[in-house]
Amino acid sequence: MRRYSLRRVLAVRFALLVLIAISLISVVSNIMISREFEEYVEEQQRLEADSIAQNISSQYRLEDGGWNIDYVHGMGMYALEDGFIIKLYDKDENILWDAENHDMTLCHEVMQSITILMEKERAELDGNFVTQRYDLKPSEELVGYLDISYYSPYYMDEHDFHFIAALNRILIAVGSISLVSAIIMGVLLANHIARPVSEVVEVTQKISEGDYTAGFRDGGCDEGLTKDIRTKELYELTNAVSQMAKSLKEQEALRKRLTSDVTHELRTPVANISSYMEMMADGVMEPTTERMQSCYEELQRLSGLICNLERLRQVEDENLVLDKTEVDLLELSQNVLGNFESQLLEKHLKGQVSGDAAVIFADKGRIQQVLTNLVSNAIKYSNDGGMIHVVIEDTKNSGIIHVEDNGIGIPQEDLGRIFERFYRTDKSRNRKTGGAGIGLTIVRTIVQAHGGNISVESKEGKGSCFTIILPKTDSL
Ligand code: ADP
Repeated sequence: MRRYSLRRVLAVRFALLVLIAISLISVVSNIMISREFEEYVEEQQRLEADSIAQNISSQYRLEDGGWNIDYVHGMGMYALEDGFIIKLYDKDENILWDAENHDMTLCHEVMQSITILMEKERAELDGNFVTQRYDLKPSEELVGYLDISYYSPYYMDEHDFHFIAALNRILIAVGSISLVSAIIMGVLLANHIARPVSEVVEVTQKISEGDYTAGFRDGGCDEGLTKDIRTKELYELTNAVSQMAKSLKEQEALRKRLTSDVTHELRTPVANISSYMEMMADGVMEPTTERMQSCYEELQRLSGLICNLERLRQVEDENLVLDKTEVDLLELSQNVLGNFESQLLEKHLKGQVSGDAAVIFADKGRIQQVLTNLVSNAIKYSNDGGMIHVVIEDTKNSGIIHVEDNGIGIPQEDLGRIFERFYRTDKSRNRKTGGAGIGLTIVRTIVQAHGGNISVESKEGKGSCFTIILPKTDSL
């Protein structure tokens, strides 16, 4: 099927619509005005005939029963010029004055010219001369009759037809001007709508080809094209596409980083283990306990990573089911910190739990995971001799956990991203102890699944404080 551009379709349809509307308006107004005018002329003609009869009737002299024939003659000739042929009778039907008798040629000329003009201009009327009789009663008494013949249903002279023609010309001119302006408006409107839509199409096409950098003219989602779009829906459309491109770009970057991070995480332990194994198998190296231990530690790292990935998969599962019970955050924190006793000792760190007992309704295993990850990070990113402090607060509606350390801290520019999957600051990458950047993603996902909120405050070189607010639920 042949497809046309939005601009063309809009412009053509708009022009067509306007054409129909203006033609309709012109035709209807033309018909209406003509009809009104004809009715007016007809009415005028009737009134004029009445007034002629009235005037003639007043020419009867009551005192002697005679007629002012001179006057009647003047009026008769005057009426003839207007297309009225009059005949005056006395009450016994004797003709007193007859236009036809008086000037037959003129009468015929008048009648002919009216008939020719009307048949030419209004043939559909099928008009002809009719005679109307008036009883003349200047007082109570009947003094005569007047026959007035005129072209029925009405007749118009040259001036009237000129007037109607001029009116039509004005209507056509106004219609044409409106049509041209409407077409110009239509094209402008079509451009206004089509431009952003075509840009959206162009951008989405580029996105579908994998070019996520494709943006709208002059750039980002709050600038450039979107800025001067006044139509709400179009603004939202371009904005949504911009946002989609942005998030796809981020997803793409994340996916690439994920692959490189996973490869990186796997490469070192696998390379270490395989070189040890190879050398031991070749008899180049003795399989000593330390070497076996070293291999075992690398394998532990590997299984740790797999375990973390598996946990992430579980908590990111849309159908994550929380096994909620009553959990005392203070008690749980003490237990978690207790689990890290040997690591704390190893790094000469001081661990402390303080605050109120806060009982919330939550999935204990998952909250334990949250605390474990946060404390483990605090240990990982603390220097020897540091301090790790877990503080629990109990408020009316929620339990609050703060995990504080005075370790290496997080650079300001990384704060917004550390909860992203596989995101690690440069400093932690340089650390041997660093994980794969999954721990905090798991933490955030679990906290959000509980309807809670996590935030972080940190200063590079001074330490970090993670705060989690978990709602208590009605079931308590
Ligand atoms: P990792 O397994 O690398 O620790 P996380 O998701 O737990 O991954 O943390 C992401 C990144 O956030 C870490 O790599 C580290 O750069 C930073 N980070 C997390 N906790 C702390 C902390 N307590 N002190 C300093 N940096 C931290």
